[in-house]
Amino acid sequence: MMVDRARVVALDKRRVWHPYTSMDAYAKEVDPIVVVRAEGAWLHDADGRSYLDANSSWWVASLGHNHPRLVAALEQQARANCHSALAGMTHPAVAELAEALCGVAPPGLDHVFFSDDGSTAVEVALKLAIQYWAQNGRPARTRFAALGDGFHGETIGATAIGGVELFRRPFRGVLAECFHLPSPGDPGGSQQRAIAALDDLLAREADTIACLVIEPMVQGAAGMWMHDAAFLRAARELCTRNDVFLVADEVFAGYGRTGPMWACAHAGIAPDLLCTAKGFSGGMLPMAATLATRRIFDGFLGGRERAFYYGHSFCGNPLGAAVALEVLRVYDDERILERACPKAARISEAFAAMGSLPGVARTRALGMIGALDLAGDAGYLAGAGWRVYEEARRRGAYLRPLGNVIHVAPPLNIDDADLARLLAIVADSVACVAPGNA
Ligand SMILES: *Cc1c(COP(=O)(O)O)cnc(C)c1O
Repeated sequence: MMVDRARVVALDKRRVWHPYTSMDAYAKEVDPIVVVRAEGAWLHDADGRSYLDANSSWWVASLGHNHPRLVAALEQQARANCHSALAGMTHPAVAELAEALCGVAPPGLDHVFFSDDGSTAVEVALKLAIQYWAQNGRPARTRFAALGDGFHGETIGATAIGGVELFRRPFRGVLAECFHLPSPGDPGGSQQRAIAALDDLLAREADTIACLVIEPMVQGAAGMWMHDAAFLRAARELCTRNDVFLVADEVFAGYGRTGPMWACAHAGIAPDLLCTAKGFSGGMLPMAATLATRRIFDGFLGGRERAFYYGHSFCGNPLGAAVALEVLRVYDDERILERACPKAARISEAFAAMGSLPGVARTRALGMIGALDLAGDAGYLAGAGWRVYEEARRRGAYLRPLGNVIHVAPPLNIDDADLARLLAIVADSVACVAPGNA
């Protein structure tokens, strides 16, 4: 396929408003990668150059791009039924998917509400929690609790519980009330302090709080801040003691990103509500799910006025459901989690070694995630991360930073050779930007 690359870039710059992008800088400075084909861990540009997708295209392509089995499942479903509503009807793919998903979910999560993306999966959880308490004897529970620097998506509800100040600021006046706890992964904080703050908050405010929402084990957008399983266990225990729902936002951490299928498994806990998206559809289609316990499901029974009046046009979309079902089969058949273990070990070793590079303040790794903080200016708008990004791009990797945090979150099934190459590019690019070499 011949692509007029210059035309694509010109049209894009004239019309397309890019996410999380300062558009004046983009228009002036950026020659975007123009992806015409994607396969495995690779993105191929119209100009013939290829890039390793270090972050699985914003953490979604957990099985790599265009996995042949997912493409086949998509084609087969497309021929049968691309979309039919889930309002009083059903279809085979969504029924099979719900059954399979509950089969691999943490214990006790046995009902599935489908939506479109991570943000809506979280929005569903927030609304379920609020409405549950409203009609089950605790109507004063209208507030949320969440972690400082957490990220849960883009809807106004998800923004309200998000803790990244830069993303909240413009909307401060319209956000629902949320208590933000000190993050257990904050490089300047401590896990003990976070647990004590949660204990304290619930002792004072449990009567007004519907749920605690957390990203288990790793706060992705915060900058891959990791915490210990002990924090999760403490959060579960404190929520149980105060009868406040625990919502696990596994949109990024789920589907083996941190090692086990669910990050909650590190602590052996099960939440009351679990949100999944991103890897849920193998990163192929917008598709998400919110899993709930029987107790929550039952709280919406007993009359029409108690139902959950919520639904998106594409709830349970057959294409997404067919692909998501095939994702679970591929995880099984190709032993994705098991085979990711040695790859995860390689990431961990490589990042530990990068800790001795000049200009690197701190490194960490968990499962198929490796991260390092560049010394110096922090925050989402920090500059050094973007210099590493440019160096990595010259070397053939797309390595979008989170401020001064450089991270990889490649497909779980990335080829060993591709992974070795990616890790070498990261080390070279970071070394190149270090003070003295810039
Ligand atoms: C990406 C992300 C979301 C939002 O998902 P979208 O699909 O982008 O709406 C929510 N929570 C976490 C933890 C995420 O990483």
